[in-house]
Amino acid sequence: MPRTNPDDRATTPRRPHLPLRPLWLCRVCAAPWPCAVARLTLRREYAHDCVGLSVYLCAVLHEAVADLYRLNPHDGPDPAALFTRFVGWARPQNLR
Ligand SMILES: [Zn+2]
Repeated sequence: MPRTNPDDRATTPRRPHLPLRPLWLCRVCAAPWPCAVARLTLRREYAHDCVGLSVYLCAVLHEAVADLYRLNPHDGPDPAALFTRFVGWARPQNLR
């Protein structure tokens, strides 16, 4: 089975920084999703639709909370930290 050289992956243009579920880590850079590149991409995609971005991020937060608490039901992530990570960064005053 052919394997992808990590160096090749790093130089592949336009590989989307999408979440690896259920861990919610970036498939490209392994940072907690949305990583910096994913945030920039989302800001660009929703540049003229701040409400749409917030609605999308709330839906993502809902799915992420379900996944992350299922993985770690007794010591799950802090709800406020999850809100900041998935939704809070996109508040309109942060878009300027
Ligand atoms: Zn990434």
